[in-house]
Amino acid sequence: MTASLRLIDSHAHLDFPEFDSDRDAVFAAMSKANISSCIIPGVSPAHWDRQLQVAHQYACSYGLGLHPWYVDANWQSAIDDLSERLDRHRSDKKLVAVGECGLDKIRDNNWQWQLQALEAQLLLASKHQLPVILHSVKSHEPLISLLSSHSLPRRGVIHGFYGSVEVAKRYIELGYLLGIGGLLLNEDAKKLHKVVETLPIESFICETDSPSMAPKSARGSRNSPLLIGQIVTKMAHLQKKSNVLISERLLSNVSQLFEL
Ligand SMILES: [Zn+2]
Repeated sequence: MTASLRLIDSHAHLDFPEFDSDRDAVFAAMSKANISSCIIPGVSPAHWDRQLQVAHQYACSYGLGLHPWYVDANWQSAIDDLSERLDRHRSDKKLVAVGECGLDKIRDNNWQWQLQALEAQLLLASKHQLPVILHSVKSHEPLISLLSSHSLPRRGVIHGFYGSVEVAKRYIELGYLLGIGGLLLNEDAKKLHKVVETLPIESFICETDSPSMAPKSARGSRNSPLLIGQIVTKMAHLQKKSNVLISERLLSNVSQLFEL
């Protein structure tokens, strides 16, 4: 493989306990596969210390944020904690985003709090001039409406995007990128195939969301950044371009967005 095929996994939770037993081996295998790094998103106050420790140990970039699954009645104190940590780490070059934050209608018993916690994090992204890493599950309409009313200086990415070409275009018009992950490898993900086939490569970055989101062919097994190569190959196939070209563009997109 040539140096031009260097890849970055823009979204991998390598701090999660699923990697505790073999994290060194996973990073070694990544570097062998020319996956030079990954971005580790933050999910909750209970995870942040460990996340930062792993990010620093393996020289990974990271985001700090409150994931919608972890939003509860105490969301305001989590946001205060987040705000304090962002102040503290803002000069750390490895802090590259606010997130992962967002909306999830599948787990919506905390919906009102999700909206408030997300809005607070959009304000923090604006204050700190950082892009946002957004989680959107069955929530594109409310998310698009929130993003339309908060013009963030550095925009961000809709990670693990799944939706129609029309929805994809609305995010792109607002200046956001789409994170394409393992769902693309599912034969029945026709909508997503169409999105990657139709829209310009400038619209995308690639990711695995490890340890979750293994494709159907590997259902039940732990996902890892090593899947990135297959995602890029599938994107190149759908875009009818070479792997080298697509890899270069994806690297340039992710580097620009997060100023890596
Ligand atoms: Zn995630």
